[in-house]
Amino acid sequence: MNLEGVEISFNCPDCGFINTATVNDAINGSSIICVGCLKTIQLVDGDSNTKRAVYEVNQAFNDLGKAFKKHGH
Ligand SMILES: [Zn+2]
Repeated sequence: MNLEGVEISFNCPDCGFINTATVNDAINGSSIICVGCLKTIQLVDGDSNTKRAVYEVNQAFNDLGKAFKKHGH
């Protein structure tokens, strides 16, 4: 499964507004404009947080897949 287009949400560090970006944006360290305060937020993968998040998302999808199989879909 390609996770790079999956949307993640995060709070603006300045105003707390919940913004969304794609995993790909975060990995690439893209900057987005906060919808709440219109300031630029730099998405930085400085602490490998994004990779950890991707891993957790992947685990969630795996669990979802198992749940679907269990119910015969
Ligand atoms: Zn903001």
